[in-house]
Amino acid sequence: MSDRQIDLGDIHAATAARMTAAEHVYTSGRRELVELLAGIGRPATIPDLLETRPKLTQSSVYRNLAILEEVGAVQKIVSSDDRARYELSEELMGHHHHLICLSCGLVDDFVVPARSERSLETILERAIGDTGFRPSGHRLDVVGLCARCA
Ligand SMILES: [Zn+2]
Ligand SMILES: [Zn+2]
Repeated sequence: MSDRQIDLGDIHAATAARMTAAEHVYTSGRRELVELLAGIGRPATIPDLLETRPKLTQSSVYRNLAILEEVGAVQKIVSSDDRARYELSEELMGHHHHLICLSCGLVDDFVVPARSERSLETILERAIGDTGFRPSGHRLDVVGLCARCA
């Protein structure tokens, strides 16, 4: 879990703008999901979300997540199990990385300090070399066992 500062007002404003641009309505149900994802602080499965808000129905959560994903407010994370996990997109939450547990599938966020991120970018650029590939960013997962499974 990271100590990133989350300004819910900014996140709602950015999400609302994306919804409007895509001609979707930023309903209270969708706002609630964005707040849940911001509050959980790590990628969440649909059962995780339903556990925190038993009144939500799986079908509405699924549908609203799909729309939030379509407008780029939410992104889906692939873990070591076959359960989809969702988090607020990097555009909203900032660049970060994931710790993925190979045993239980738990995904946690971690942030690499800015200076190390720049070193990482340099290493990656060198590795890519003259392939002609033009990188726009990177995704880096660390896999292993979470504290509970270790
Ligand atoms: Zn685990
Ligand atoms: Zn990075």
